[in-house]
Amino acid sequence: MANKRDYYEVLGVPKDADEATLKKAYRQLAKKYHPDTNSGDAEAEAKFKEASEAYAILSDADKRRQYDQFGHAAFEGGAGGGAGFDGFNFNMGDMGDIFGDIFGDFFGGGRSRRNNNGPMRGANIRTGIRITFEEAVFGVEKEIELNLKDTCTKCNGSGAKAGTTKQTCTKCNGKGQVVYTQQSLFGMVRNVQTCPDCNGTGSIIKEKCPDCYGSGYITARKKIEVSIPAGIDDGQSIRIKGKGEPGTNGGERGDLLVEVNVSRHPMFQRQDTNIYSTMPISFVTAALGGTIRIKTVDGEVEYDVNPGTQTDSRVRLKNKGVPSLRNKNVRGDHYVTLVVQVPEKLNEEQKEALRNFDNAMKGIKPEDAPPEKKKKGKFGRS
Ligand SMILES: [Zn+2]
Ligand SMILES: [Zn+2]
Repeated sequence: MANKRDYYEVLGVPKDADEATLKKAYRQLAKKYHPDTNSGDAEAEAKFKEASEAYAILSDADKRRQYDQFGHAAFEGGAGGGAGFDGFNFNMGDMGDIFGDIFGDFFGGGRSRRNNNGPMRGANIRTGIRITFEEAVFGVEKEIELNLKDTCTKCNGSGAKAGTTKQTCTKCNGKGQVVYTQQSLFGMVRNVQTCPDCNGTGSIIKEKCPDCYGSGYITARKKIEVSIPAGIDDGQSIRIKGKGEPGTNGGERGDLLVEVNVSRHPMFQRQDTNIYSTMPISFVTAALGGTIRIKTVDGEVEYDVNPGTQTDSRVRLKNKGVPSLRNKNVRGDHYVTLVVQVPEKLNEEQKEALRNFDNAMKGIKPEDAPPEKKKKGKFGRS
C-alpha cells in the first residue's frame, strides 16, 4: 500500500476537523466522483473510493484515533484492526449506512431510489375493520374487500400494447436519470435528477396497452381473508404480508395493515386482558347470601353471594377475561362489582315486614308492642 495519500489530505480538511466538516467535505467529493454520475470513468471511481475510504475511517472515532497514531499502517495486513480496507478490496457494501446518511436527501430518499430501474418493494396499504367486543375476545375470521393494484395480465406489466415493446429512453439512454452540471461557489456541482421523459423507468412506451393505459397495473376489487386472533385490542393492527401494492421490476409486494376497531359493549368494559362489569343484587340477597347468575363472555355463571355482602363489593371470576394475544390459553379475569339495590316501591305488607325486621333488629318481638318482654339483646346474626 505504497503511496497512499493522507486521509485528511484526501478530504481536504485540517487534522482537527470536526464531524460536520468531515461530512461536508466528503459529501462534496462524493457528489463529484459518484459512479452514478461518472459511469465508466475509472479515475473518478478511484477518487470516489479514496474519499469514501478516508471518510469511513475518519468518521469512526476509534479508527480515526488509530489512524492518527499509526497512519495507514493501522489498517494494513490485518494485524491491527483487520478492517479490510486496502484500496482494492474496499467494500462498497460497507458504506451502506454512510450513503443513507450522506445521500438521503441528495437522491431523494435513500439508496433504493438511487436507481429506478432496480427492483423496488411495493408500498404498504392501510385499512380498517370493525369487530364486536366478543369477536375481539375470541378471535374471528373476516373478509374484507378493497381495491388492489395488480400486474396487468394483458401486457405482463410492461405497459406496452401486445405485440409491441418498450423502447429505450433516448434522453437518459435507459438509465432513468439525467445529470445537470451547475457552476456553484465551490466549483462545478453535478445534480442527478429523475429523467423527465421516462419518469425514471429508462424506457418509453410507444403504443400503450389498452387495458392498463400503459401503467402496467390494473386495479381490481379483491376479497382478502383476515384472521383476527383472540385477545386483539382496539387500535391494534394485523399485518398481512404481500397484500400491499405490487413491487416494480421484480420487487416484492408491500404488506396490508388492517387496523382493528372494537365496538363498545353495553355491559362489559375491558382493560388489557381483564373484563369489568357491575351486577345489581337485592338487599335481601346481600344480607342473607344466595346464588346469583352473572353474565360473562362465556355465558352465565352461578355465583354464591356471601351473607352480609356490602354494596360495591368486588367479585373475581378467574379466567373469564380476555385471552392473552401471546398465548390464548392464558386468560385474564372478570371482575364484577355487586351493587346492592334498595327497593323503591313497597306495598303495605312489605312495609310491615320491614318494620318487623327493624323491631327484630332492636330486639322487639313483632306481636308484642311493649318493648319490655323477651329482650334478645343481640344484633343480627352471630
Ligand atoms: Zn397492460
Ligand atoms: Zn429517460
